[in-house]
Amino acid sequence: MSKEKRVECVGKAQRTETELEVLIDDIRHTNLLSGDSNLIPQYEKALMQYFDVPHAIAVSSGTAALHASLAKIIQPGDEVLLPVIGVTMTASAILMAGGIPVFYDCEPDSFKPDLNSIEGLSTKKTRVLITVSMWGYPAIDEATIHFAKSKEWIVIEDAAQSFGTRNGSKFEGTKGHIGCFSTQEFKLLSTGEGGFILSDNSDHATAIRAFSRLGFSEEHKTFGYHSGLNYRLSAMQASLGLSQLAIAEEKIALRNKKVDLWKEMLGLTPSEKGKKNKLQLFNPDGLKGHNGYALCVKMASATEDAAKPILIKLFEAGVSTDIHRYKQSLLVNYAFLKPYYIAPQYTANPRVDFPNASKIMDSLISLPCHDGVDLDDIEWASKKVIDCLENIG
Ligand SMILES: *Cc1c(COP(=O)(O)O)cnc(C)c1O
Repeated sequence: MSKEKRVECVGKAQRTETELEVLIDDIRHTNLLSGDSNLIPQYEKALMQYFDVPHAIAVSSGTAALHASLAKIIQPGDEVLLPVIGVTMTASAILMAGGIPVFYDCEPDSFKPDLNSIEGLSTKKTRVLITVSMWGYPAIDEATIHFAKSKEWIVIEDAAQSFGTRNGSKFEGTKGHIGCFSTQEFKLLSTGEGGFILSDNSDHATAIRAFSRLGFSEEHKTFGYHSGLNYRLSAMQASLGLSQLAIAEEKIALRNKKVDLWKEMLGLTPSEKGKKNKLQLFNPDGLKGHNGYALCVKMASATEDAAKPILIKLFEAGVSTDIHRYKQSLLVNYAFLKPYYIAPQYTANPRVDFPNASKIMDSLISLPCHDGVDLDDIEWASKKVIDCLENIG
């Protein structure tokens, strides 16, 4: 009996033959397999070149990247602004570093901060603004940077999903003070587990590097000067990272082909504009320079929870979406974050506190474009999307 067809929202990253050969060769020949391997500085240098930044620190995960950065930037009790549409890991990293998460609303049709919302949340204790570029869509612009600067905040970009997204000449993750990336299996540049940090500030970079390397002091060449954890990446992961980096542009181009096919199949290309369609592109501007991580579309009529029945129907029909799989919700709805969703800043009604983000989550559908999804899959799955929309009425 043939297995029923499914399109998953995440999947194993494809490995090229070269990548695997290089990995075996590296295991044989590199001096060490630990985080002290000479492959690590090589990988970091390649990252610096790719992103055109002066500092890159390879670490063991995206969460480690966020935690190490926050641990060296904030003092316990400092407030950290983060978007209410995001992932739980960003909020966890803030808590682990002793910070207090403060949730902000986004713009009506993008993941960028709504600056009015932020202004109202700003206090004497605010130290950091975090942006999260979900599904590869840009979450930071000049206005955001300008605003943060006027407040003397440190800007940390959680760019875990936006490796390779670029807006003009600058990559997502290089616009603020610190960029945190994940190279976990499901991310665009995949090393199984892993992450890295980018910064243009040598003080930040030195402190974060020491923290992620058991507190090792580069200056004194020994331990004992700083506290720290072991967040090092292994040589095997750095080997994969180097190979993946060499084909990053190809990977991005391939994903963008998938984005284009979704758009075409769902009637979302410019030529179909004006046609009555139950779906629309989310943040079409955000697709310029997009890495093709996933395509976000939205229901044209954004009634309360409009997308939910579609996401469930899609899952049952064999098309899995991130939003369904991860039970994606506004962060304030997660149990462990409820204690931080309190008056006087908030009314306890997310639709009042985060009107834009609420509307986005009411209507958003994320469509997968990862290595494991091929063009035939998208043709098949987009028919399922259209079916589900028809049947919902
Ligand atoms: C994946 C992800 C993380 C966590 O990265 P890990 O490598 O899994 O620790 C953090 N933030 C965002 C936005 C992510 O997508």
